Amino acid sequence: MRHYFHGGIHPADGTDKLLSNQKPIRIYTPTIVEISMKQSLGSICEAVVKVGDKVSRGDLIGKPIKFGGANIHASISGTIIEIRKDSDLSDIDVEIIVIESDNNNTEAKYPIGDYEKKLIDLSEYTKEMIITKMSYGGLTGLGGAGFPTHIKYETKERIKCILINAAECEPYLTCDHMLMIEHRYAIINGVLLFVKVSGAEKAIICFEDNKQDVAKDLERIVSDKGLPIEIKILPTRYPQGGERQLVEAVLGMEVPAGNLPASIGVIINNVGTAKALADIVLGDEPLITRVVTVTGKVKDPCNYLVPIGTRYNELIGLSGGYTTDKSRVISGGPMTGTCLQLAGSYDELTGSISKITSGLLVLEDAPKDESPCIRCGECERVCPAGLAPFKIDFAAIEGDIKLCDMLYATECISCGSCSYVCPAKRELAYRVTKAKTEIFRRRWESED
Ligand code: SF4
Ligand code: SF4
Repeated sequence: MRHYFHGGIHPADGTDKLLSNQKPIRIYTPTIVEISMKQSLGSICEAVVKVGDKVSRGDLIGKPIKFGGANIHASISGTIIEIRKDSDLSDIDVEIIVIESDNNNTEAKYPIGDYEKKLIDLSEYTKEMIITKMSYGGLTGLGGAGFPTHIKYETKERIKCILINAAECEPYLTCDHMLMIEHRYAIINGVLLFVKVSGAEKAIICFEDNKQDVAKDLERIVSDKGLPIEIKILPTRYPQGGERQLVEAVLGMEVPAGNLPASIGVIINNVGTAKALADIVLGDEPLITRVVTVTGKVKDPCNYLVPIGTRYNELIGLSGGYTTDKSRVISGGPMTGTCLQLAGSYDELTGSISKITSGLLVLEDAPKDESPCIRCGECERVCPAGLAPFKIDFAAIEGDIKLCDMLYATECISCGSCSYVCPAKRELAYRVTKAKTEIFRRRWESED
């Protein structure tokens, strides 16, 4: 097998990851959390609590207003002190539930159970039981856009293989790597739950070759016990962890345009999602914490385990604040992340950790002056979706959304590879992604 996917780049030399993958995960428990009622793709949630209510860690506080969302739970015990409306990163108005800790059972900790230390006998867990817990526990993908996981597993397609994305191909981010070092049994138990619930023959955990330490560790466990799990080590190449890229590189198959991987019998989950599934099913704790990498231009880069809703500025403060005056703060990694703040102090940074926040990255802001396209074709060469980004860019600038659609802008995975290589510094990924969003918006409107 060639372990190769179309396009892609080598965006960094790997030293960026060394900033934060050399220290154990730190646990942090804030006294206030601000939990957005939009934590995943699909429907936003509405509060099912009111100001003044007392909640315990794990209580349901938000339910999707229509099909396609995921439940949201209190991540600390305390009192609801405020419910306000705010705009999220995509400018959608959502409710934010603010909980003040009662200092009772609020510690952000992993549920400690046998499943953290050994393989669990899953024979008593039925598919229905696992899906019900997955759905109630508000499980979403922890590595990407946050697709509600139970919806993936309610497919009618026959699933043959589960791919577990342990590539963590985005530069700077190390939260998955550290999770795998510290929680290998919980992850394997979670992967076995995915195999069980899907009826798949096997799962393949896919690493990049910059994580051989943990890959070998997991391989030892799965081969000793004869588990239906394979370990695959892939070349370090961005965006190796993209769903379609992983399918192409590992299985040598292509997901047809406009279809989900389930259409060819494959489901892909992030390694952090496997750990969260084990917490939900075997640890009886909904998805209320996650590991976040805080890195880049901060004094003390690190990975933190925090309750969902922990405020960004507290985490930057814990990491010693910015080490540059020209800070650009990004939620996620440098390739696919969203800019949260340009310049300013970290005290002024607003917003909080959601289920899909893999990192807070501080970079030195360097102004990008776009110049005209020189038709070098580099963006087309690296696009893993096989698109011609410069053509879509022209169409998007002209406002010709129909042409963007004809050029398959909807297949863009927003990986940022095109912008990264463009010598004219054109904001290709931004405009292609915007065009994609507009196409989908128009399609949904016409369906309503
Ligand atoms: S057009 Fe989309 S998929 Fe292609 S390189 Fe650019 S961001 Fe990635
Ligand atoms: S990489 Fe930039 S300059 Fe080259 S073809 Fe694409 S848009 Fe034009």
